[in-house]
Amino acid sequence: MNRVLPTLQEFQDFGARFQTASGEKLERVYLRNNRFVAIIGYKVLKDFARFTSHEDLSMDVLEYHGKTRIYLTGLKRRAVYRRASEAILRQYDVEYNCATPDHQCMQCYNCFAYGGVIAIKNETKAIKSRIKTTTSFSVQNDEESIIDEPEFHNMIHRNLRMAEETEEKKASIYEMVLIRPGVVFPFIDIIFNPARFDIAMYCETVRRADAEGYGSRSSLLGTMETKIVAITDDLKVSQTELLDAIKVEGIRVDDHQFISLFGPDELVSREELETVRMELPALIEKNRKLIYGREK
Ligand SMILES: [Zn+2]
Repeated sequence: MNRVLPTLQEFQDFGARFQTASGEKLERVYLRNNRFVAIIGYKVLKDFARFTSHEDLSMDVLEYHGKTRIYLTGLKRRAVYRRASEAILRQYDVEYNCATPDHQCMQCYNCFAYGGVIAIKNETKAIKSRIKTTTSFSVQNDEESIIDEPEFHNMIHRNLRMAEETEEKKASIYEMVLIRPGVVFPFIDIIFNPARFDIAMYCETVRRADAEGYGSRSSLLGTMETKIVAITDDLKVSQTELLDAIKVEGIRVDDHQFISLFGPDELVSREELETVRMELPALIEKNRKLIYGREK
């Protein structure tokens, strides 16, 4: 049984106002303590993907821990999470209209979790993100991870009948370099000042984000499957240890060593996570006003 989950309070009201010693009124979101949980696991690509931060659309690769690896930046991953989280909140309240980056309300759950900025005169406000997603690197090297063009061409024709598309479209497909399914990315996500609601939202958010994909927004590429292995308040493992602890052969992922990096009370089972995730609708109902933002 995971030791951290039962210790978390159900929900935190980050919009509650406090009066500081100097008489200043401050919302709770600005009062930080050092409490955090680290959620650790790995993601497996289920579909072709393209992770690029470059103008020339070249793949994001970096020499890291002895290999040239594909990387998925923490910022990109967090942006996908934020959009998924927004969509979940909208599902439970059609009028919810906080949207990043153009209309951050600064008083809803998403703004208190992922941060925000307004820069209107006399109303300048900035909230730091409580959710920190670190950059993930592929277990496999770039040669094993990137699919070559003729191979992709064959698969596309076989699976998607791209042959019926126009010549132009074909040409652009042929030029694509993509990451192949089966590439594994260990990750560490940290939530500061966590509550049980955050974990419930996180589980639902990851489920949704995995299905929507981590490629560029329009591409619908990069769907993933996430396995959450541990939730801990005592982060002792590093990204490089995680990379060393996963063995991948073909499509078989051996996470035996990965799991043994954690104490039994840090490991978290699928059932424990599902229990928390299933509480989400009730928790949203119960804390509705605070989740969607109090009246100004
Ligand atoms: Zn908001």
